Amino acid sequence: MKTRRIIGIVLVVVLFNAVIIWAVASGQDDAKPHWEYEGPEGPDHWGELDGYETCGTGRAQSPIDIADATALNLSDISFDYSPSAMNIHNNGHTIQVEYDAGSSITYNETTYNLAQFHFHHPSEHTINGEPAAMEIHFVHKDAAGNLAVVGILLVEGEEDNEAYAPIFEHLPAEKSDPEAMGEINAADLLPENAAFYTYSGSLTTPPCTQGVRWLVLTEPIVLSAEQIEAFAQIFELNARPTQPLNNRDLLEDNG
Ligand SMILES: [Zn+2]
Repeated sequence: MKTRRIIGIVLVVVLFNAVIIWAVASGQDDAKPHWEYEGPEGPDHWGELDGYETCGTGRAQSPIDIADATALNLSDISFDYSPSAMNIHNNGHTIQVEYDAGSSITYNETTYNLAQFHFHHPSEHTINGEPAAMEIHFVHKDAAGNLAVVGILLVEGEEDNEAYAPIFEHLPAEKSDPEAMGEINAADLLPENAAFYTYSGSLTTPPCTQGVRWLVLTEPIVLSAEQIEAFAQIFELNARPTQPLNNRDLLEDNG
């Protein structure tokens, strides 16, 4: 009888610890509500999830359809990108490369440091209602914490894009922590022409925070069908639908 009682106590202690460990682990993981690109936790419902209200009520949301932009001679975007370790991971919503410190853009006399870049399939921004195959977002932050995102549309062509190949050859299929996979230079991922559209928008994922300076380059980058398919195999759909412009300025740099 005594042995049984001891086994009983041990079992209770083990179970109790297991519950504690589980609670701590899931607490870290689920500090913010889970969201998806489809279904009951999809974009139409993000605003109903705790902490993501701006996704539903915000009047300056991203992405948008780019149409009827006002052409102006705007301040150029000055890119100052250097090579970085390619710290690539699948965060459950996209494939992201965390970028080493030391790369930045300067726009309107403000310097924004490159933090990471990631991909969407199909594109989030559309041009005259037409999506591109994919879109890459270079996410930058200035000293005050303001965000500027450079978006580039990725379209399908015949040839593999050599500059993008190191990334598309190392796409993690499952959710993962950042892992260094050689080196990459974000400068090699840009088109030749740095003309752009610009507007004030938001993060395109929860919590949909506004005040983001969007700089969408007009020249797309060409990837092969195989490269696009490699990403689509992992993320068939990870693009938020376009949001209303709501009287915001949408400008096009005409050089
Ligand atoms: Zn994005």
